[in-house]
Amino acid sequence: MAKSVDDLASSEQPGSQDTADLVAREEQVFGENPLEVRESDHYTFEYVGGFVEKWDELIDWKKRYQSEGSFFIDQLKARGVRSVLDVATGTGFHSVRLLEEGFDAVSADGSPQMLAKAFSNGLTYGGHILRVVHADWRWLNRDVHGEYDAIICLGNSFTHLFSERDRRKALAEFYAMLKHDGVLIIDQRNYDSILDNGFSSKHTYYYAGEDVSAEPDYIDEGLARFKYTFPDKSEFFLNMYPLRKNYTRRLMREVGFQRIDTYGDFQETYHDAEPDFFIHVAEKK
Ligand code: SAM
Repeated sequence: MAKSVDDLASSEQPGSQDTADLVAREEQVFGENPLEVRESDHYTFEYVGGFVEKWDELIDWKKRYQSEGSFFIDQLKARGVRSVLDVATGTGFHSVRLLEEGFDAVSADGSPQMLAKAFSNGLTYGGHILRVVHADWRWLNRDVHGEYDAIICLGNSFTHLFSERDRRKALAEFYAMLKHDGVLIIDQRNYDSILDNGFSSKHTYYYAGEDVSAEPDYIDEGLARFKYTFPDKSEFFLNMYPLRKNYTRRLMREVGFQRIDTYGDFQETYHDAEPDFFIHVAEKK
C-alpha cells in the first residue's frame, strides 16, 4: 500500500513528465504567459525544490501549531476517527500532528519533493516514520488502497484544481475512499472576500512565518496568482483557482456528502467577509 520515499523516484505521475526530472527541478516553471497557466497538472511544476525548502519558513510549524490549536484533532476525535488519509501532505505538518495524537495516518501527495520533505520532517519532529504515497487526487483509488475514517485536504490545497471536472473527480475519489460514516475536511482561502472586496489578511492562521509575505499578484474569477516573498528576497508563485465558498459546498453536496459544516478561521459563527480561511467538514452519513 504505502510506498517509501525511495520508491518515489521510480513512480509514474499521470499527465506529467518523468518524476525523476521533477525531483531534480529547483526552479518554478510558468512559461512566457504565467497568467494563462490555469491547469490542474501544473502544481508539480510549482512545488519544486527551491519552494519546498522555503515552505516551512512560510508556514512556521510552531506558530501554526499554536494558532490552529486542536481544531482538526477535536473534529476527528469527536467522530471516533482512527484512520486518516492526509491527501495534501505537503511538508507533513498535519501528518506529524496526527501521528503524535495516535491516529493511524497515511500521507499522500502528488509532489515527490513535498513527500521527501515530509518524510524527513517526520523523522526530525518526533522520530515518526511517515507512510508516504505518491498519488494524484484524481486517481487516488488507483494508488492508495483501503478505506479510511477520515480524509483531510488542508492548507488551501483543493484550490489547485482548475476544472470542475477535476474537482468532481477528486471529490468522488475522496468519497469512495471513506468508510460509510467517514468525514472529509477541506479548507480554502476566503476567495469570495478577495474577489468581492480585495485582499486583506490577518496573517495569523496559516502562513504565520515572520517576514514572509503571501499576497495576490493577480486575481480574476478564474485565477488567483499569489506571490510569496522571503527575507532573502527570493520570490515564488502559485497559480490557483479562486473557489467561492458556496460553490465548494455545493460540489461536496452533489458528490454525495450529506452534511457540510463550514467554519470561518476555526469559528462556527462569523461574518462571511471576515475570515481569511474557511474549513468545510463534510460527513458522508
Ligand atoms: N497540507 C500542506 C500544508 O498545509 O502545509 C500542504 C499544502 S500545499 C498548499 C498543497 C499541496 O497539495 C502540495 O503539496 C501539492 O503537491 C498538493 N497537490 C496539489 N494538487 C494535487 C493533486 N491534484 N493531487 C495530489 N496532490 C496535490
